Amino acid sequence: MKRTLLLMLSALVIGGALLAFSFTPATLPVDALPKVHVPEAHPPADMRLYAIEAGKMLSQAAFAYRGGHFSEARTFGMGGILVKHPQGALLFDTGFGKDVDEHFKTIPALMRATSRYEKEPTVAAQLHAAGIEPSALKAVILTHAHWDHVSGLADLPGAPVWVDDQERSFIKYGDDASALIRSFGDLPYRVYNFPSGPYLGFDKSYDVFGDGSVVLVPASGHTPGSIIAFIATPDGKRYALVGDLVWQTEGIELPAERPWISRQLVDWDDERVRALIVHMHKLKAAMPDLVIVPAHDRRVWDALPHLSDAR
Ligand SMILES: [Zn+2]
Repeated sequence: MKRTLLLMLSALVIGGALLAFSFTPATLPVDALPKVHVPEAHPPADMRLYAIEAGKMLSQAAFAYRGGHFSEARTFGMGGILVKHPQGALLFDTGFGKDVDEHFKTIPALMRATSRYEKEPTVAAQLHAAGIEPSALKAVILTHAHWDHVSGLADLPGAPVWVDDQERSFIKYGDDASALIRSFGDLPYRVYNFPSGPYLGFDKSYDVFGDGSVVLVPASGHTPGSIIAFIATPDGKRYALVGDLVWQTEGIELPAERPWISRQLVDWDDERVRALIVHMHKLKAAMPDLVIVPAHDRRVWDALPHLSDAR
């Protein structure tokens, strides 16, 4: 009896210490800044980038990055980024779809218990309002296949879904983290490679339109086949859609990883995530005008052009 009590007590102490350590502020070490050659881009004059906000989760900064406070509420936005290009429209991720209540039931119990979400008009509804039907999309490009990025896919029947081969395997054979998209069955997948050579410190890339306006690079870490999309628009702006490499901008700014408990819930390979965070931190230092767009930082999304405002 005494032994059981002692065991329970030590488990509590160790668990508590781990949790406390998990939330301790800690920035990742950054070595010398690289000499960055910014590749040329020739985006066509009528290319546009729009944010489509579609759902929210309510959380705290403490869960987003080490050093974030529990007292600081944070909105984790959901949604898609639409890139209208004369060669075709690309949609990056899809936010919460119309069946989000059903989809939410498929996520791990601990995550369900600690999350609260709110709906917003779906990506499909906002595209429709702008006169864009799913059949008009050249591709839905997933930064990765987690449920909150693919929920809206169910509302976009027939739209080609682009993933790299590692994410395709994760969708086919992954654990609970890819269960939702697996449940959608045989979508019109297109698996792409990275034939376009080194790009901003990544050893390979995929220049989608051949004009440098949309360049995908492999960013394996959060999931096996996560990607980062670099986008150059005709107004001279450059964006990096970093998916869930970090949840909030501070992750790149500090730089800081997610706290331990969040990493256990969502990350596939902590070490790779850390290395990529540091790389993006250094890139941002070398290219101060680069707009880092974490998939869930609503503050960043609010500052982007919105499809709902486009006329
Ligand atoms: Zn994710």
